[in-house]
Amino acid sequence: MTLLAVQDVTVRYGRLTALRNASFTIGQGETIFVTGPNGAGKSTLLKAIAGVVTPVGGDIRFGDRSIAGSVPEDIARLGFSMVPEGRHVFATLTIEENLRLGAGMRADKAAVAADLAHCYQIFPMLRDRKESPAGILSGGQQQMLVIARALMAGPRLIAIDEPSLGLAPKIIDQVYEVLLQLRDERGLTLLIVEQSSTRALLTGGRMLLMRSGEIVMEGDARELLRGDALKQAYFGYGGH
Ligand code: ATP
Repeated sequence: MTLLAVQDVTVRYGRLTALRNASFTIGQGETIFVTGPNGAGKSTLLKAIAGVVTPVGGDIRFGDRSIAGSVPEDIARLGFSMVPEGRHVFATLTIEENLRLGAGMRADKAAVAADLAHCYQIFPMLRDRKESPAGILSGGQQQMLVIARALMAGPRLIAIDEPSLGLAPKIIDQVYEVLLQLRDERGLTLLIVEQSSTRALLTGGRMLLMRSGEIVMEGDARELLRGDALKQAYFGYGGH
């Protein structure tokens, strides 16, 4: 079943077209990597889906609803959770307060309590420090916290912008282990932006390559990474 359909979406910042006629779909439970060089439009694509920026053209459907032009709160309520780049935690609030903020708009207290318990099961490190201010956590732990906080909204799809950025390889392994556990155990759909494509080789899934605001290649991540076409498309045909 198609969960998200992006159709011909264009985003402009003033005179700059940051995203041009982007189209792709994601099925329920699928994993998609969006990769590409700096400034390719990857974050803009996520922001357009999340409602943080408004497309000037095209349509975005989530489930059976058109969400293009909707406000972020409404899109989140439908089951789209985004973890923006930069691991923004509320440093002076406790870890548990940070997590509860993620569930802010959910009225069902019993379900929230169950999700909190489940988060602590997946991230025991957060449970052990739940009364401590989030500011004491290391970079990798903060990445876990923002992912856990996004899960507290009860999403069907979680979109994460550059989860590996600035983390040591061992910590990146742990972050991905958790993401794949969530995909496999809860059927969570993953949309992951990474400038480096090597992770996709390990985790599999589909890959979109972006350059200069356009999706220039799409296919099975492992197949694309094995061939030369991805490298050529990544660096352009003018050389490396
Ligand atoms: P990075 O990996 O560096 O985050 P990206 O692929 O995510 O890159 P975007 O952040 O989506 O790319 O940026 C796409 C283009 O839009 C770039 O040229 C960028 O400078 C520009 N841009 C991004 N945000 C804004 C903004 N708020 N106002 C103006 N231009 C912007």
